[in-house]
Amino acid sequence: MATKTILKLTGVGRQYGQGDTVLSILKGADFSLKSGEIVALVAPSGTGKSTLLHLAGLLEHPDEGEIHIDGEACGNLSDDRRTAIRRGDIGFVYQFHHLLPEFTALENIMMPQLIAGLPVKEAKERAAALLDYMRIGHRADHRPAELSGGEQQRVAIARAVANAPLLLLADEPTGNLDPETASYVFDALQALVRQSGLAAMIATHNHELAARMDRRVTLEGGKIIDF
Ligand code: ADP
Ligand code: MG
Repeated sequence: MATKTILKLTGVGRQYGQGDTVLSILKGADFSLKSGEIVALVAPSGTGKSTLLHLAGLLEHPDEGEIHIDGEACGNLSDDRRTAIRRGDIGFVYQFHHLLPEFTALENIMMPQLIAGLPVKEAKERAAALLDYMRIGHRADHRPAELSGGEQQRVAIARAVANAPLLLLADEPTGNLDPETASYVFDALQALVRQSGLAAMIATHNHELAARMDRRVTLEGGKIIDF
């Protein structure tokens, strides 16, 4: 599968006003991520990892610079177009699973597909296949509260890729898990990325997991740098 640039940041700046002072989180940040590539985002708490992921996921606007998703400049797009890209091309995984509590694992993974207009039968088949792939097929009919932390995160990952996105953004997806479970969940995530050829950026504090990714970047002086 030929690689192409899926995520590109050029000269991205983001500031927050705090009282009289301005907090510069990103400043002239450049970054690019190709299909099939997994990059770890490792930086101390409060340095801007979530901010960066939210910008890349089109959940926030940068104050300066431009973000391209699959070659499309996103800065001046309509909200409708940004929402369409977010739903179709981007999958997001959070530290806490954010699954819908009243729905089963299978239904949670069907949901984004139904919103995208897929027929119920196809959505169900794909959800079941993803659960099998994440090795939790036997938990399909369980609600989130009836799943372990590791199982919840595997369902959340399956949901994030349900619409076959180009880009997976994960914000400390294993931060809430014990080391052994974190390693197991990461294995599943990595296999999924390898098999689907999507591009992934994963914020983590876990240096052991970061070492297993293709590249490692951190935030320094508002820039995104390899280390
Ligand atoms: P990380 O995910 O690395 O812990 P964040 O991106 O959440 O860091 O936050 C980076 C910095 O920006 C922190 O100092 C945080 O307090 C500040 N910040 C984040 N979001 C906002 C906001 N909406 N308004 C003001 N400050 C914010
Ligand atoms: Mg964060």
